[in-house]
Amino acid sequence: MTGFNELGLSNSIVATLVALGFETPTPIQEQAIPIVLTGRDLIGLAQTGTGKTAAFGLPILELLLKENIRPQARTTRTLILAPTRELVNQIADNLRSYLRKTPLKINQVVGGASINKQQFQLERGTDILVATPGRLLDLIARNALSLKAVTHLVLDEADQMLDLGFIHDLRKIAKMVPAKRQTLLFSATMPKAIADLAASFLTDPARVEVTPPGKAADKIEQYVHFVNGQNHKTELLKQALADNPDSRAIVFLRTKHGAEKLTKHLDLTGHSVAAIHGNKSQGQRERALKGFRDGSIKTLIATDVAARGIDIPAVSHVFNYDLPEVPDAYVHRIGRTARAGRDGIAIAFCGPDEGRLLHDIERLMGIEIAIASGEPHASLERPARPARRGGNNRNHSNGGQPRKDGRPQGGRGPRDEAKGERQGQPGNRKPGGNNRPARSGNRQRQQGGGAARSGR
Ligand code: ADP
Ligand code: MG
Repeated sequence: MTGFNELGLSNSIVATLVALGFETPTPIQEQAIPIVLTGRDLIGLAQTGTGKTAAFGLPILELLLKENIRPQARTTRTLILAPTRELVNQIADNLRSYLRKTPLKINQVVGGASINKQQFQLERGTDILVATPGRLLDLIARNALSLKAVTHLVLDEADQMLDLGFIHDLRKIAKMVPAKRQTLLFSATMPKAIADLAASFLTDPARVEVTPPGKAADKIEQYVHFVNGQNHKTELLKQALADNPDSRAIVFLRTKHGAEKLTKHLDLTGHSVAAIHGNKSQGQRERALKGFRDGSIKTLIATDVAARGIDIPAVSHVFNYDLPEVPDAYVHRIGRTARAGRDGIAIAFCGPDEGRLLHDIERLMGIEIAIASGEPHASLERPARPARRGGNNRNHSNGGQPRKDGRPQGGRGPRDEAKGERQGQPGNRKPGGNNRPARSGNRQRQQGGGAARSGR
């Protein structure tokens, strides 16, 4: 097996990695690191939780050390952009742990924190700056920073950074960064339209795809409950939390209002919960995440502000209380579990008006999600089919009722059953093969097998 030293990283970096418990590179690291070390532009696509941060962080670190130059005052040599404050902080923390024992200086700038302090930290020059675009532009407007010395530009969660919410800021930023630079784009999803747009930010990029973009992480068991309304969702959620007292769960909702309401309800009914969404102060957001990270809070109620990038290894369950409007968001939400080779469970609730959303999600991932309870709604626009009723159940016989923890009886999720790719986008499909999963006939049955893992 390839080790980090065979990828072209120097011994001191490899030693740091070993100390961190990184022994073998993940596939995206194995493929991307040697290319990044050549200085080439790159689009790196790999599933959630597979080590993309180190895939760009380590080779950049190596290049910066080799270049061996001191950053000028109020400039940065590397700029890493990410969509949320929490993700910026996490990336900076990760990189900080890699560059211990080096003279390199890392800084982070995010909204919701003191701009004066950030301005002060940028004074003496930065080797690696991790930032959200809005705050970065504010600091540039104050002359706290110039991007004229940037030689490496990274967009993490690149498809989101190039999407409507950020593209305007990104174009401004790109104009300020020298054209002669290395640009790296990483994500687990890459819609075709965004990939086309991405090309305008890159020069002769290499493309590394570990799996077709949009595919969920390997070890996630996915289930869907067809429900008749919000109360039904809340009851199922409470039941699942009660049945899995050791679980660490993130529950995603579409709106801040919905998230707040559910948080209050769960709090009043004795659950250990905290909320993270855009109407919370930065202090509240950080406290919620910290409490969830250290285990003092068991369930985190979130909007999509927490859907991307956040790495909390102990997360056992992800609930899609509401289905997201954009199917890619589902892939990122459920990717908060089953990270770094672990497994995890993703449970979705599909209300009567959410069939189209489920349809889009299944189409993107090229799978049909196993039914845990209920009947597909008419809005799903396909023939109704019976819920699974313990056909291959070996371990839990309870009279054909859905299991209380939200998982159907008998175990495994539908992973790897269809290597589908995004449909309706021919440019994104492999030549020759028709990878579309069969859409007629019954939901693909999972092979039974394996004791259902309970109690998480
Ligand atoms: P991604 O960005 O692909 O979603 P992350 O970069 O957040 O994934 O990494 C996910 C987790 O895997 C992190 O906790 C990270 O420390 C860990 N990790 C990354 N690379 C390795 C490796 N080579 N060996 C062991 N753990 C790793
Ligand atoms: Mg990431």
